[in-house]
Amino acid sequence: MSALATLEGCAAEVAREDRPDDAPRPILRERGQREVFCGLTGIIWLHRKMQDAFFLVVGSRTCAHLLQSAAGVMIFAEPRFATAIMEERDLAGMVDAQDELDRVVNRLLERRPDIKTLFLVGSCPSEVIKLDLAKAAQRLGAVHMPRVRILNYSGSGIETTFTQGEDACLAALVPVMPARPADAPAELLIVGSLPDIVEDQFLRLFAQLGLTRVGVLPARNARDLPGVGPNTRYLLAQPFLGETAMALEGRGARRIEAMFPFGAEGTSDWLRAAARAFGIDATHTEQVIAAPRARAERALANLRPQLAGKRITFLPDSQLEVPLARFLQDELGMELVEVGTPYLHRAHLARELDRLGPAVRLSEGQHVERQLDRVRADRPDITVCGLGLANPLEMEGLTTKWAIELVFSPIHGFDQAADLAELFARPLRRRDLLEV
Ligand code: SF4
Repeated sequence: MSALATLEGCAAEVAREDRPDDAPRPILRERGQREVFCGLTGIIWLHRKMQDAFFLVVGSRTCAHLLQSAAGVMIFAEPRFATAIMEERDLAGMVDAQDELDRVVNRLLERRPDIKTLFLVGSCPSEVIKLDLAKAAQRLGAVHMPRVRILNYSGSGIETTFTQGEDACLAALVPVMPARPADAPAELLIVGSLPDIVEDQFLRLFAQLGLTRVGVLPARNARDLPGVGPNTRYLLAQPFLGETAMALEGRGARRIEAMFPFGAEGTSDWLRAAARAFGIDATHTEQVIAAPRARAERALANLRPQLAGKRITFLPDSQLEVPLARFLQDELGMELVEVGTPYLHRAHLARELDRLGPAVRLSEGQHVERQLDRVRADRPDITVCGLGLANPLEMEGLTTKWAIELVFSPIHGFDQAADLAELFARPLRRRDLLEV
């Protein structure tokens, strides 16, 4: 393994087979070539959130390039991630990759006493040679605990999409969350990485509601990692956290059923659901949310004329597609042509799916050629898709929005509702200007 390097990379393309649709609601299930970024991408927002964590990708130069290019345009602070680059001799099994990894980790931790949590992040190459990072994390953890907690997860692009990187990372944290005893008072746990400013807004609203015992996963610092137990009620802030949710339930926590906090309606539903779960008086809840909700509704009303009646297609990418489609349809009057998502978690998205009209074409998985054919036939006013598909579609006169921008922008909550709508209004305004 070479020295540490920060890193541009590749979108995963995986061929799979079609399988029949057995879902109750008609869903087009597609299995074919995919065009998505891999789970390493999540490191870009996760390392900003967890301020004393370090992400060490065990991968190739391609993995290094992916992170470097994504980070180069998105961040300005000193990176807290790197790639231990696997060379040919690692891949050929000519050296003991575990020994090499120990050497790299020991050197890193000697130099960086600020690191409190180290994530060893697997990649396609490390998975292909079956490098056991769980074993490495255990072995290295025994040496470096309690100063540094060492965990592992996979960000590989094999069979995954880019937001699954966050899911895998948070799921890796769940087993090390402190146990809350069964008789501990009930606590709310917000799950999903949010920009600090948005998290603070939500914490203020929960405090006004009277909820003071609120934990956040991921925490900004290792020492603030929240506890979990049978009296933990968790509220998902992101729709792509299926594995994390399962791990939390394995430790006794129970999910609060709610829409996701996008737009005035989604945010109201999310806050109301939490308040109800903790027995807060409904009149008080309405008093607390009335002013910020009215502000969000006024801001959205200004943008509604630009978006109402416009037709939109989502290609499967970020796993944010279903709640965003609901927001654009219900709060801005957009017409949904197709809502594609890489994986559809029916239970977590149940309240959002209920809102989508029967005429909306729902698809799960990806067969990129077929989906592009449908976009060409439908000619929606705007298509939300990955970076690799946006330019070709623009060349064909179709307006696009990069899905990844939705993950990098603060879009949750009342105060960001108009910013979220603006992300869709802007490409349409640009198209209208170009057409004049
Ligand atoms: S993990 Fe796989 S898909 Fe991601 S950059 Fe590395 S090689 Fe490419």
